[in-house]
Amino acid sequence: MAGVRLESVGKTYPGGVRAVDGVSLDISDGEFIVLVGPSGCGKSTTLRMIAGLESITDGDIFIGDRRVNDVAARDRDIAMVFQDYALYPHMSVGRNLSFGLLRRRRHASRIKAVFSSSYRGASRKERLDIQSRVNEAAVVLGLEDLLDRRPRELSGGQRQRVALGRAIVRDPSVFLLDEPLSNLDAKLRGEMRTELRRLHRQLGATMVHVTHDQEEAMTLGDRLLVMKDGVVQQGGPPAQLYEQPANRFVASFIGTPEMNFIEGVIEDGLMFKADGEVRIQLPKDRWPSLSVGQQITLGIRPEHLELASDGDAMFTGEADVVEQLGDRTDVILANDHRRMTARIASGSGLREGDSASLRADLSQAHVFAVDDGENRIATK
Ligand code: ADP
Repeated sequence: MAGVRLESVGKTYPGGVRAVDGVSLDISDGEFIVLVGPSGCGKSTTLRMIAGLESITDGDIFIGDRRVNDVAARDRDIAMVFQDYALYPHMSVGRNLSFGLLRRRRHASRIKAVFSSSYRGASRKERLDIQSRVNEAAVVLGLEDLLDRRPRELSGGQRQRVALGRAIVRDPSVFLLDEPLSNLDAKLRGEMRTELRRLHRQLGATMVHVTHDQEEAMTLGDRLLVMKDGVVQQGGPPAQLYEQPANRFVASFIGTPEMNFIEGVIEDGLMFKADGEVRIQLPKDRWPSLSVGQQITLGIRPEHLELASDGDAMFTGEADVVEQLGDRTDVILANDHRRMTARIASGSGLREGDSASLRADLSQAHVFAVDDGENRIATK
C-alpha cells in the first residue's frame, strides 16, 4: 500500500483545453478519497494522470515516495476500475479475474499456457498463487458460485463486482475507481456503496474514487475533493464540506435538496433585506464582519426551514411541488420573487396549491460574498 501526492498538477489537452489546473493533494496510505464535481470539471483527467493513462502538463505526481511522472501505467502499481466494467466477454469470471495477473508476466508462452484450462506451462507455484488470489477475491466479493459464468450471464452489480475483483487480485498499492457505480440502478448503487466501504475497510487500501454524484461522494469518502473548472474548490471530510462550505459553489453542490440562496443587502442593525419584502433579522454576533450596505447572498438549507405562522415567517408562497418521502416531505414554495425548497416533517397536510409560510433556523444559515469567488463569510 502507498499514499499518493499531487503537487500543482495541471493538464492542458492538445487544442488548448485546460482540464486540470494546479491540483495539490496529499492522500494518506489507506485513505478513501473521492474526487467529485459536475461533468467536465476535470476529475477523470486527474484520476487518469495518477494512473499514467494521461500525460501531465505541469506539476509532479508521487505514488509512495516515487515520482511517477514518467513511469508507464503498468509500472505504477495501481489498479483501475472503470464505469463500463471492461470485462472480457468471451472469458469466464474466473479467467477474467486471473487474466490481468497473467498478462503482467509478459511471457507470451506462459499466457498461452495459462489460458488452457489446465494452466499448463505456468509453474506450480504460479498456478497456486494465482488460484489462491482469485479465490480470495471471489470470497471477499461473494463471487464463489459465479466463477464459471460469462459476463453476459451476470447482473450489472455482479459484473461490477468482477471488475473490482480483477483490481483486488492484483494487490495494487492504490485503487483508482472511475465512476464505477454509475451504470447501476439506484438500489444496487446503494448496495455497492456499502460493499465498497466494507472492501476498503477489509483491504485497508488507498482508494481514489471519481463521481459526479455528491451523495455517493458523501457516503464513501473519508475525504472529498470538490472540483470545478479544473480547480479544487475545497477538500475535507464530508461533514466539514456540509457544515462549512468554502464558497457558494460547494454549498450548492453538497447536500440535497440544494441549498436556497437569496441575494440582498445588509441594513442597519444587521437586518437583511431582499426583493419581495423579505426582511430577516440576522443574529447580531454571528457575522461580525458584515457592514451596512454590503451585498450578500444568504444560504439556507431546505432542512433548516420549517412551516411557520405568518407572524414569524421569512417567506410566504404557494406550494408548487409537494413530495412525500415517508418520514419527511420536500416542498417547493413559490412567489413572484423566488422559489424556496424546504424539507419539513411529514404529516403537515400541506397540498400542492396551498399557501404556506416558512421560518428559518438562522443559526444554521450561511452568508456568501457577492463577488467572483463567492466565498463564505466567516462566522464567530
Ligand atoms: P470529468 O471527469 O470531471 O467529467 P474530464 O476530466 O473528463 O471531466 O474533462 C475535463 C475537461 O477536459 C472537459 O472540458 C473535457 O471536455 C476536456 N477533455 C477531456 N478529455 C479530453 C481530450 N482527450 N481531449 C481534449 N479535451 C478533453
